[in-house]
Amino acid sequence: MVKPFTRIVLKLSGELLGGADGAGVDPEAACRVAERVREALSLGVETGLVVGGGNLFRGEGFSRRGMDRCAADSIGMLATIMNALALRDALESLGMGAEVQSALPIPGVAEGFEARRARRYLAEGRVVLFAGGTGQPFFTTDTTAALRACQIGADVVIKGTKVDGVYSADPTRDPTATRYRRISYAEALSRQLRVMDATAFSLCRENSLPILVFRFGAEGELERILRGDFDSATLVDAEGAETAEAKSK
Ligand code: UDP
Repeated sequence: MVKPFTRIVLKLSGELLGGADGAGVDPEAACRVAERVREALSLGVETGLVVGGGNLFRGEGFSRRGMDRCAADSIGMLATIMNALALRDALESLGMGAEVQSALPIPGVAEGFEARRARRYLAEGRVVLFAGGTGQPFFTTDTTAALRACQIGADVVIKGTKVDGVYSADPTRDPTATRYRRISYAEALSRQLRVMDATAFSLCRENSLPILVFRFGAEGELERILRGDFDSATLVDAEGAETAEAKSK
């Protein structure tokens, strides 16, 4: 049995804030994301959010094209701050309270991350957007989500993606790919399933922090998960091995 989640960190890729091609920031897309986040708040679940920056800038790609990796990643981290500001605006426009805490504070724009204050905001029913990644190059926002979840004592990291969970193979290429409903960290590792990047995954595993992967976007999906119905998602945790079962798409 999985205990109901009372405090979550939701990780969303930056592309969700982009326009039709996933690029830039589209205020309507931001509002659609905010609508879904409201499902968690209306259940009284304390919600931390980590949004990536891929719609604006991905450091790795630019470093492959010759840019210094530290410089490129700094731009990537700034992109996550821009996204967090856009999403805070969307959340507020729908009447929710929201705060941005950045690993790279910018006076007048975004305060610094502080776990105690973040917990206080969460207890007051506000969404806390953890921006600026970890503040360090060579990391990702997946790792940021895992790290912030550990720091604020979240029950789970929920990763909203384009697919409805973790598959035995890439479901877009392999028609025989099957989705796991629940799987252990050890099994996910031994089967080389890419749940999150390796740093994020090991942080979760070492701290027994469950990871839930679901398809982000459909109305009511996040609410269903938070009510304990993981049928259309994958839960990765320590006990998963006992109940690991593959389910056809
Ligand atoms: N980034 C970083 N350190 C971090 C988090 C992010 O340097 O701790 C940079 C990195 O360049 C990354 C970019 O920010 O490519 C955007 O983050 P990510 O790729 O995770 O965004 P997503 O793909 O989820 O939109």
